[in-house]
Amino acid sequence: MTNSMEILVSEIFLSIQGESSFAGWPCAFIRLAGCGHGCLHCDTTYAEKGGVAMSVGEAVGRAIAFGAPCIEVTGGEPLLQAGAYPLMEDLCEECPNVLLETGGFLPVDQVDPRVRIILDIKPPSTGVAEQNCLTNIDLALESPHRFEFKIVLASREDYAWAKEFIARHQIAGTCTILFGAVFGELEPERLAAWILEDRLPVRMQLQLHKYIWQPGTRGV
Ligand code: SF4
Repeated sequence: MTNSMEILVSEIFLSIQGESSFAGWPCAFIRLAGCGHGCLHCDTTYAEKGGVAMSVGEAVGRAIAFGAPCIEVTGGEPLLQAGAYPLMEDLCEECPNVLLETGGFLPVDQVDPRVRIILDIKPPSTGVAEQNCLTNIDLALESPHRFEFKIVLASREDYAWAKEFIARHQIAGTCTILFGAVFGELEPERLAAWILEDRLPVRMQLQLHKYIWQPGTRGV
């Protein structure tokens, strides 16, 4: 029986996964509407309000219909909606690779354990670094295979902060750690140089979809 619980959806689309260890894979995205966290580099402000109401069952059906090898639930901030949890559970019944991308300010302890959690850690340039939910770090260290940390950096100050953060929380060598550069703010070459200089055990990534399509294009 399909789940009739209602969720607010900004968009459902097929694209190339751009920011995780799944980068490059064809991926169906369910972007839930709503956030309000106020990150200064937010690139999905259009998803912060509005959205179309639909049942969990309909969203699952539409995402599955793309036939992609992975499905990502994103936002906005998906975990603000109670329906995000049954949505992910139902997706896990249908697809072996379900990803959640979350802003990292809410606890993820109620997320289905089959879901791969891409957890944003917000550095100082976002203006919300004080609101990173640190209990998520403990959870990640208990079951590292379920988590990827994603830190998108805009400056040398962000880089220094991120380096200290992963050292202080002893994350290195546990979960995948992804360092990215805010598109148009930090030259990838500079970030690469810093990582190489420090031999930092992180994986550098670029926001792939912004190189394939025009930055700012929706539905990709
Ligand atoms: S948590 Fe994500 S959607 Fe919300 S303001 Fe920050 S970047 Fe934007």
